[in-house]
Amino acid sequence: MITSAQLKALIEALSATVAAHAAELTDLDSAIGDGDHGANMKRGFDAVAGEADAISAKPEAEALKAIGTKLVMTVGGASGPLYGTLFLTLGKELTVSPDDYPAALRRAVDAVAARGKSAYGQKTMLDVLYPVAEAVEANKSKAEIVAVAHDAVAATRDRKAIRGRASFLGDRSIGHIDPGARSSALLVEAVAGVL
Ligand SMILES: [Mg+2]
Repeated sequence: MITSAQLKALIEALSATVAAHAAELTDLDSAIGDGDHGANMKRGFDAVAGEADAISAKPEAEALKAIGTKLVMTVGGASGPLYGTLFLTLGKELTVSPDDYPAALRRAVDAVAARGKSAYGQKTMLDVLYPVAEAVEANKSKAEIVAVAHDAVAATRDRKAIRGRASFLGDRSIGHIDPGARSSALLVEAVAGVL
């Protein structure tokens, strides 16, 4: 069970890393998308951080649902519903099976895939989230999980986008890192730094 203090630290770490990398996310999204990913993510995680006290006072599962709801309302674009689904499903799953984090993460990533009608290998955030879910299931260390996430981001460079706005570019999407994959890895690293 994640404590209230850990939840608050987690929210602060997530918003801090998104803010610190907002310009980088915007640059990545400008290359193969519409250049709004940094601003969208910052707006969403700033909004979550603005309610850090109220959210972290809730039980873990309810706090995760509250983060998901806030992200859906504030991030916008394609990422809002997807990151919202990730956190909402984590909260729902932990309500049903407290403390089964690997299963909750796996189901949450599956829910993101269903929401985005996407799959692993299509140059999206799923290219990071699935390897991370597998690493968590395999009980890898935090450092290994973070390394898996960053390697997975690098692997999106050579992929052609199949889903999302970048897919309109076809082969021209090859050679660029996916911004959603990058933001997912940043969130993974922030979580690993707190828990
Ligand atoms: Mg965009």
